[in-house]
Amino acid sequence: MTTNKILIVEDERPIREMIAFHLMRAGYDTLEAEDCREARKLLADERPSLALIDWMLPDMSGLELTRMLKRDKEFEDLAVIMLTARADEHDKVTGLEGGADDYMTKPFSPRELVARIKAVLRRSGSAENEVVTSGEIKLDAAAHRVLAKGTEVHLGPTEYRLLKYLMTHPERVYSRNQLLDRVWGANVYVEERTVDVHVRRLRKALTEHGVERYIQTVRGSGYRFSILGA
Ligand code: CA
Repeated sequence: MTTNKILIVEDERPIREMIAFHLMRAGYDTLEAEDCREARKLLADERPSLALIDWMLPDMSGLELTRMLKRDKEFEDLAVIMLTARADEHDKVTGLEGGADDYMTKPFSPRELVARIKAVLRRSGSAENEVVTSGEIKLDAAAHRVLAKGTEVHLGPTEYRLLKYLMTHPERVYSRNQLLDRVWGANVYVEERTVDVHVRRLRKALTEHGVERYIQTVRGSGYRFSILGA
């Protein structure tokens, strides 16, 4: 098993070094950046599995950086925990809506930080390498296979990614635009109705196995994967 690399994006050096010290003691490899520019370079070159991003940074806010990363297909597997001195509930919500997987208010105990990191890595790891079973559909991400009632479902690459995204984020409605960002990637230009085309193909493939009901259209909003009421 490879050691998880964690990037710490924090402009205040004593805090950054304190975090790095505790993460190293917990067995993680650490990378340090003092601004967003440096962070982006390290993200691209070193491929950490998680980034701790401070809200207040000199060149761009940590929230903007998080939003940017979460829209980028290249960093879809990166987990983000936002760090902030703000204790406001409103800021917490904004941070999570910006795409952060978790949120910590300074000052925090190193033990709590390590516990949160473990939890976030466990969640993102389960989406990436393990088997997700929902209702009668089983998606084996490592083998890149989908089974419905035990039989293999043949899907095109886009339909596979779409199903994987929806299955790993169940019971939530995603607009066409959100799906374009998260499944196709922010840098690809495709029209919103492309989403409908691929949802139709996905449903068609699932219909052959009698499991299309999990992919639900929410009128005026978008699509969701749901085993409730399905
Ligand atoms: Ca700061």
